[in-house]
Amino acid sequence: MIRCGYCGHEFAEEEGIKGCGKCGKPCRSVRCPRCFYENPPEPAVVKKLKKVFGKNS
Ligand SMILES: [Zn+2]
Repeated sequence: MIRCGYCGHEFAEEEGIKGCGKCGKPCRSVRCPRCFYENPPEPAVVKKLKKVFGKNS
């Protein structure tokens, strides 16, 4: 799941709009389907940390 950094909307990665459409190369950012905020791709390290600390959520 991705949480939009702007509006806080949570959506699945495949639900988001991939790519910024501006940079012309495979862009890894994912746009929020609600507010179109461009969320930067989440580094793998952060995902790992979330797994470790996200057990009580
Ligand atoms: Zn949003």
